[in-house]
Amino acid sequence: MNTQITDSGHARAWIEISRGALAANAAFLKSRLPEHCRLMPAVKAEAYGHGAVPVARELSKAGVDAFCVACVQEGVALREAGIEGEILVLGYTHPEEFYLLEKYRISQTVVDREYARLLSGYGRKLHVHVGIDTGMRRLGERSDEISGIIDIFRTENLVFDGIFTHLSADDRLTAADIEFTLRQAREFDTVVSAIADSGFPVPKRHLLASYGVVNYPQLGGDYARIGIALYGMLGTTEDTEPWKAFLTPVMSLRARIATVRELYAGESAGYGNDFTADKNMRIATVTIGYADGYPRSLSNGAGRMLINGRYAPIIGRICMDQTSVDVTDIPDARQGGIATLIGRDGENEITACELADKAGTITNEILSRMGTRIERFVTE
Ligand SMILES: *Cc1c(COP(=O)(O)O)cnc(C)c1O
Repeated sequence: MNTQITDSGHARAWIEISRGALAANAAFLKSRLPEHCRLMPAVKAEAYGHGAVPVARELSKAGVDAFCVACVQEGVALREAGIEGEILVLGYTHPEEFYLLEKYRISQTVVDREYARLLSGYGRKLHVHVGIDTGMRRLGERSDEISGIIDIFRTENLVFDGIFTHLSADDRLTAADIEFTLRQAREFDTVVSAIADSGFPVPKRHLLASYGVVNYPQLGGDYARIGIALYGMLGTTEDTEPWKAFLTPVMSLRARIATVRELYAGESAGYGNDFTADKNMRIATVTIGYADGYPRSLSNGAGRMLINGRYAPIIGRICMDQTSVDVTDIPDARQGGIATLIGRDGENEITACELADKAGTITNEILSRMGTRIERFVTE
């Protein structure tokens, strides 16, 4: 998978989405979960930079029929592209946009009990999943406010399709983190039991995201809201290492070489003359920059690209739209050729994990910030 470069024909910078990797990751994650637990992939932020519509289309074809997004507009975009099934907005929607929830049959998270009243005030039926705060302290009614939660279930005009919580320490496995996570799960169960005891039908329950599925699959639920793992990795190289045989990166990021030129010993290149050649060199200018989401912190040799299967270190400062690399040892690098920023080229690979580690962030941020100028297409 992902060993073949697909030349986009004319694009300046593009993302290849591997259909095979996406399907294999989904199947692997599903296989870890109890039989009845369904996938609800997180396709927010353009499916972590891959492109929400193509990713949701591929997953729909593979039998996935529930998705979560960050905001109502992301849900609308999926519906307008013909995506069916459940779409859940995980974040806040402004009351003036409640009509979009109704019009596009999108479910809304109840972020607290005041918000349940606002949703009810819309006056017509809206589908909701009730958020329960068991420790993240971000959204949802607190799990110790049982009577407040029961009040939410008494609210008129709401159709209760789900109830969920979000684990906040499931990525590390220290004794304290495990204890905290299991306490979150227990508190969530207590809330669910209280709802049942009050005579309300229990809606679909969900609590696992990617780290939950790899570290705590036994916690199950009716849905798993998988994001980063579906795209073939976890947040860092270290976290991804144990799962490398089971998760395959879905994204390859490539850009075109605009020009190859000489840089003579003693000459400088780029803004601030940051780089100075200590010997005669050849450098290539690649048509991608920080405005495309390539982190500027990879400047001055921190990052590298692959050209014709060989590593080309970045020289000087990454610009908004272009980046220079050293191709002295890659004699066949030429104008119109292809540079790989993430993905495989021949025997070698650059992973999003590598970029995240070098840029001092997590893969989620690297992927989700891929720019709008980058073309996206699905490959095998
Ligand atoms: C983004 C998000 C997810 C997906 O998280 P991953 O760690 O990428 O799997 C799941 N649930 C909620 C509430 C989220 O905001």
